[in-house]
Amino acid sequence: MSEPERRSSGEVTTSPSCAADTTIGGDVSGSDVTFESMQARASEPHETCSSQHATAELVRGPVDLSTKKEHFDLDSPAPPVTTLVNTLGGMPTASDQAYGALDSHARHPSPVRVAEAPMPVDRRRKIAGFEQIARGHLREAGAPEAIELPVSLVDALEKAWKDADASQVETGGNVVRTYGGTYKLRRSEGGTNRLFEADEHDVGWGETMIGIAHTHPYRKEGLDHGTFSDGDIVNLVDESEPLKFLRSGPFTYAIARTKEFEALVKRHEQAQRIDDLKKAMKKSYNDAFSAFHGAFPDQLEAGVNAICKQFHLVYYQGQGAELRRVGGPSIQ
Ligand SMILES: [Zn+2]
Repeated sequence: MSEPERRSSGEVTTSPSCAADTTIGGDVSGSDVTFESMQARASEPHETCSSQHATAELVRGPVDLSTKKEHFDLDSPAPPVTTLVNTLGGMPTASDQAYGALDSHARHPSPVRVAEAPMPVDRRRKIAGFEQIARGHLREAGAPEAIELPVSLVDALEKAWKDADASQVETGGNVVRTYGGTYKLRRSEGGTNRLFEADEHDVGWGETMIGIAHTHPYRKEGLDHGTFSDGDIVNLVDESEPLKFLRSGPFTYAIARTKEFEALVKRHEQAQRIDDLKKAMKKSYNDAFSAFHGAFPDQLEAGVNAICKQFHLVYYQGQGAELRRVGGPSIQ
């Protein structure tokens, strides 16, 4: 089989999600470089590595978040479920709906409450954390430290990943919240070996778009994972969903928009300087990518951390259902 083309022809405005969109030059409108050239660039000597040490902490080991601001006070008694959910903003206050939100994480939701064992407080907070960011309007200072994805979404991402790994074609779709408060992934076609182009209009009746999810299969390159490309993140400027998901290897990644990011986009739109914002975001990513000495996946991590920190985006990462905040404005 001939070697497939590894770069994307997609433009930023079409909202493609693809690692091959990553360029080194920082010019949004210019020609992108290929995956190979990125890897070649990775082995070149670097003039500076000012960001590498901080990023290495994020890439190579668990982050000590004990001193960071937390959305919930972990030492305080657990508030009742209705109180937790009512802090999320814009949610119904009826207790049955609050339970419904939590039930969306259960593999087998049951209407019987009395016989159920109480959910651990820590888990409630993580579930509430996901509900918080999935409903948008997140302030960066209030970003939860950890979130728990609904089982339905974890299973769907696992399936998408297995399909991608088997075919070496990027898979994905739209993560939506149903009328009943559950979450699901609406898979769609449109992937190539280095591109997944989402159809943001693929949302069913009563469903709310939460975010695009796609995969990065890198086995042909000898890699088992790799996080968001610069193109994946710059596309957030043209999108409106509160979250973006990525599955690659054993890892699930998510980026949450914030009110601060929305304000940044709005200011640039009003000044008709939206392309300047995209160029600046791309440059932030690629400067950190180039400055980091390490393997390709670690360089990608450096890029994501840099762009999230500078542009008010919150970066989550983990395996299975639990994702932890590993980057963003409040992470030093
Ligand atoms: Zn991608």
